[in-house]
Amino acid sequence: MHSVPSSRPPSIDRVLNWAAVAPMILEYGREPVREGVRSVLESGREAARTGSVVDFAEAAVAARLALHLERRMASRLRRVFNLTGTVLHTNLGRAVLPEEAMQALLTAARHPCALEYDLETGGRGDRDDVVESLLCELTGAEAATVVNNNAAAVFLQLNTLAMRRQVVVSRGELVEIGGAFRVPDIMNRACARLVEVGTTNRTHLRDFEAAIGPRTAMLMKVHASNYAIQGFTASVPEADLARLAHAHDLPFVIDLGSGTLTDLSRFGLPHEPTPQEALAAGADLVSFSGDKLLGGPQAGILAGRRELIRRIKKNPLKRALRVGKLTLAALEAVLRLYRDPDRLAARLTTLHLLTRPRDDIRAQAARLLPALQTACAAWPVRVEQEAALSQIGSGSLPVDRLESWALTIRPTGRRGGVLHELEAALRGLPVPVIGRIADGALRLDLRCLDPGDEAAFAGQLAGLRPA
Ligand SMILES: *Cc1c(COP(=O)(O)O)cnc(C)c1O
Repeated sequence: MHSVPSSRPPSIDRVLNWAAVAPMILEYGREPVREGVRSVLESGREAARTGSVVDFAEAAVAARLALHLERRMASRLRRVFNLTGTVLHTNLGRAVLPEEAMQALLTAARHPCALEYDLETGGRGDRDDVVESLLCELTGAEAATVVNNNAAAVFLQLNTLAMRRQVVVSRGELVEIGGAFRVPDIMNRACARLVEVGTTNRTHLRDFEAAIGPRTAMLMKVHASNYAIQGFTASVPEADLARLAHAHDLPFVIDLGSGTLTDLSRFGLPHEPTPQEALAAGADLVSFSGDKLLGGPQAGILAGRRELIRRIKKNPLKRALRVGKLTLAALEAVLRLYRDPDRLAARLTTLHLLTRPRDDIRAQAARLLPALQTACAAWPVRVEQEAALSQIGSGSLPVDRLESWALTIRPTGRRGGVLHELEAALRGLPVPVIGRIADGALRLDLRCLDPGDEAAFAGQLAGLRPA
């Protein structure tokens, strides 16, 4: 390769014939490389116009081109290390799927599958059949259906059962989840009329009773998943609301948000209400997410009375909100794991991460501390290992914390900005490392770092460089 600098831009075709570019054409294909050359030459000319000295010799252009192609061709859906301390992190894809779900996904992706095909009769089937009987067995529901996410489940349920009619909800439950899901907005778009009763902190059965009229379609309870109202509070027990609704021939529905199909207190975690409890208390329908505590793929599940599910499935919007075969394959595999509660914590990744003992995480921190200390030696920071508190995330159990352990980085000087620089450098690693800055420290909570990934994690730290 020539390394004599040149200030004259070559033609695109000339660059494409350079020996240094041939392997890139093999790897990425001729057209993407042509586009890359055009872009690299154009930015070179632009830089030269504004007075910079730009080298257009083969070696220099090829190096810029290689970098450009690597960036352009890399997937945008990059794998990352989630060391934020939030296990179900919505921005990082929520639940990580268990091995069983991965196998099911691959099979469904690679081969034709009996998605809507009844293998007994050879006739047409319903895609919900893939998971409906499992959902009924696990929740005690008569029937169930699956849509794109829980927001879609709530929307579809309201649009089917309460169009142009009234839905009575307590003021303390008009929640916003992650900015984009607000109960009043969803109600509005579903053409249901919201009737708020009670006050932010206290709502009584008589408030609901007084709101019921000829235009009432249902009573609804929304699980206050991402916040807690504490102090002088009152809410109406689900069984009382169910009785009141049924006395007026109305359905009572509960939006649980996070749905776990097992009692988390069995695993030493705080209890989270389950769909089976909601249905046992008299709810006619319950809605919950597939990728929160359930630990599966993004999906929204509606379970409950057969007649209501039948009407929901007949809504033309069900077709618009339905899930694909990949989701159903993964969901079925995850639901199967729940049939064997004894091995659930070992097999269901989400539950495994939530139940990791603090001392295991602490031992992991001790193993990784020297590598991070070495990697950070060029920064004015102090790296230590210390106790941390993880959270479940996705609005589940907002006030509960899980004892964990973290690698913690604090500035040694007065320049607090160094933490943001280090945070950016960690994000720039081949597998970006996502930590969290709070209280003057950058914490890498190791709860979600699989011990099998430790070598890969530590190995790439050598590439950590000040910008
Ligand atoms: C998370 C949540 C939703 C929205 O669920 P998605 O699966 O994110 O669409 C709705 N209601 C409640 C109470 C929730 O916690």
